[in-house]
Amino acid sequence: MPSVQNTAAGRLEGKVVIVTGGASGIGASAAALFWEHGALLVVADIQDDLGVALVSKLGERATYVHCDVSNEDDVAKLVEKTVAEHGKLDVMFSNAGVIDRPFGSIMEATKADMDRVVGVNLYGAFFAAKHAARAMVPRKSGCILFTASSCTAIAGFSSHPYTASKCAMVGMAKSLAAELGQHGIRVNCISPHAVSGTRIATGSEGLPVPIPEMTAADLAEMGNLKGQVLEAESIARSALFLASDDAHYVSGLNLVVDGGISVANPCMMMALKSHMH
Ligand code: NAD
Repeated sequence: MPSVQNTAAGRLEGKVVIVTGGASGIGASAAALFWEHGALLVVADIQDDLGVALVSKLGERATYVHCDVSNEDDVAKLVEKTVAEHGKLDVMFSNAGVIDRPFGSIMEATKADMDRVVGVNLYGAFFAAKHAARAMVPRKSGCILFTASSCTAIAGFSSHPYTASKCAMVGMAKSLAAELGQHGIRVNCISPHAVSGTRIATGSEGLPVPIPEMTAADLAEMGNLKGQVLEAESIARSALFLASDDAHYVSGLNLVVDGGISVANPCMMMALKSHMH
């Protein structure tokens, strides 16, 4: 990942940025990269130890706020506190998310799974957008960014509740882009394909569900774009583009970061090859 030595050249210099789900994984990578690019950073999460450790490591310009995104009061307070401290909110990166289980038949899916996944992923994004918009509209500028998933572009990779929550998020982002454009606010999604590293799925009652261990090599083998590995930092870099003024006219976009797997269908080529041998 390129490092910015001089934050004066940072692409988020002076911008006030909230990253939800910023204590680990993609959110932590994005938080660190945004900070390197000069952001006044607020990391929001429910994993307090990890969140506090991250902002302590980054140092000045980074603070941590405990926030359960499925709770509207928490999200409202997060935005209020950010605006009280920094005077404005420029970027809301609504990234917190949970997955119930990696796969699973609709016949075994439970309402508890659906409630929990939609509660965090979709309601979390909804509350984040609502309270961010209230802070951004009077200033006539801002950027709202949701982490969706490549399951919005290709079916069969994720559970039904998770896919439903992420596809709804993409629809909501377009709807928000239509309403908020008149106020100079951009709304986009970033949709990662499977990222190497650990991820904990939590099924009904929030109990951990094992996800098959996938190494970077396994994921690269399954991918369409060879010779490249998708990592949390790769998503952070694409998110930086959407969060920064480099994307000043980009709104209503679902940026799928998947090496082209959602547009490539290898079945025909595989059948052709096996027929020729
Ligand atoms: P992760 O589990 O490392 O990070 C998610 C973060 O969200 C964690 O820090 C967690 O504590 C936080 N979080 C969970 N529930 C929360 C809540 N109610 N309130 C506030 N914070 C909460 O996983 P990740 O892979 O970094 O996931 C980040 C986002 O990327 C999620 O929205 C996920 O759905 C999406 N995503 C991930 C992948 C992947 O392969 N890792 C692929 C597609 C999409």
